[in-house]
Amino acid sequence: MATAHPNCAGTTVSDGRPLHAAALKFFWGPMDCGKSTMALQMNYNHARQGRRGLVLTRIDRSLGPRVTSRIGLAHDAIEVTDDLDLRALVHSRRAEGTSVDYLICDEACFYTVEHVEQMAELVDRDDVDVFAFGLATDFRSCLFPAAQRLFELADEVTRIQVEVLCWCGREGLLNARVVDGTVVREGQQVVIGDTADSAEVHYQVLCRRHHRTGDLGPRA
Ligand SMILES: [Zn+2]
Repeated sequence: MATAHPNCAGTTVSDGRPLHAAALKFFWGPMDCGKSTMALQMNYNHARQGRRGLVLTRIDRSLGPRVTSRIGLAHDAIEVTDDLDLRALVHSRRAEGTSVDYLICDEACFYTVEHVEQMAELVDRDDVDVFAFGLATDFRSCLFPAAQRLFELADEVTRIQVEVLCWCGREGLLNARVVDGTVVREGQQVVIGDTADSAEVHYQVLCRRHHRTGDLGPRA
């Protein structure tokens, strides 16, 4: 039986290993703020240290399960479907002899609340670090259910702000859904828009003031 650190006496997991400081971390921000880029950088940094991880995503912009960033980075990923159990995924990999030290969960705002519960359990029971990346709010400026649960459960929450700006120069905070040139406030929570500005449905990052007024700026 491993000796517990004096400061965490009794805090050993069921197999006797000392408690590892695994954590659930949520990184959030509007689109174009560099979330996927940071997710891939995180994966690279941990892999370089000899750690083994899984990269997961949901409804990425690209076809097929890949994490892609707008500056051109890409990585194959596991598609998170409603019925995927993240715990079972990790346990099956470990049963095959593959260690899983961490999960990179891109587009986590589109996961289910149950997936977030599974993330917390993986951290607490299996010593798996979980790094989740995603939007906080939808086009109406309301929290996605999974994002809300991440705010509630995460050990650390970090707002990513890589100077994504509204057209007015203020800090971009919210994603507006634009249909035929107009900001819409009703509709399904998840509608995938083409990222090209000419598409019928697209998203534009706005400051709170211009999200509230629906002002897309002089170029609109
Ligand atoms: Zn603005």
